[in-house]
Amino acid sequence: MLGVRLLLIGAPGAGKGTQATRIADHFHVAHISSGDLLRAHVINNTAIGRTAQDYMERGDLVPDEVVLDMLRKPVTEAVAAGGYVLDGFPRTVEQAEAAYAVAKDLGVAVQVAVHLAVDPASLLERLVARGQESGRSDDTPEIIKHRIDVYEQRTKPLLDYYAERERLITVNGERPIDEVTWSVIVQLQKAQRLLAD
Ligand code: AMP
Repeated sequence: MLGVRLLLIGAPGAGKGTQATRIADHFHVAHISSGDLLRAHVINNTAIGRTAQDYMERGDLVPDEVVLDMLRKPVTEAVAAGGYVLDGFPRTVEQAEAAYAVAKDLGVAVQVAVHLAVDPASLLERLVARGQESGRSDDTPEIIKHRIDVYEQRTKPLLDYYAERERLITVNGERPIDEVTWSVIVQLQKAQRLLAD
């Protein structure tokens, strides 16, 4: 399977980062996490990082132009090297439309969106536990609740957006990590036609 171009959609705490890493390894393509890249910009105190920091600390979305600008180079490089698994982007229908406008003429638009479905009730628990381990400043109960609201309002409409375009697969993200990874790979294999373009 050559040149897979995927993205993962899931609520905060659904396991996007973990699964994106594993799926990217499986297909030998780059894992591109908008959240990880933004956190690196904040640590390195770049112009992007200085703009993004306040939004991230509040659990709000960083403005589209900042994220699109930041991703242009890594995505272009990943495409040249064979493909990508995007994690955390797009976060809104507007971002998906903007990315598609750029990517379609180059033939590098997303082939499949993978939805990691997790019961909302288990998210808060997962994230509070992660916050204690990772020390991520946006993993406190208040901010987590806000990030889950932002997901419900801004990101969830993406599920319809990709379903309408017949590019959505959904996996149950509640199971053990290995099972979730395999279920994504098996479903992608069944959806070969999506990976043909
Ligand atoms: P994540 O690691 O994906 O949970 O992202 C952490 C934070 O980075 C989010 O709460 C947002 O503030 C910001 N962020 C990550 N990806 C995006 C994106 N595609 N658009 C806007 N903000 C983003």
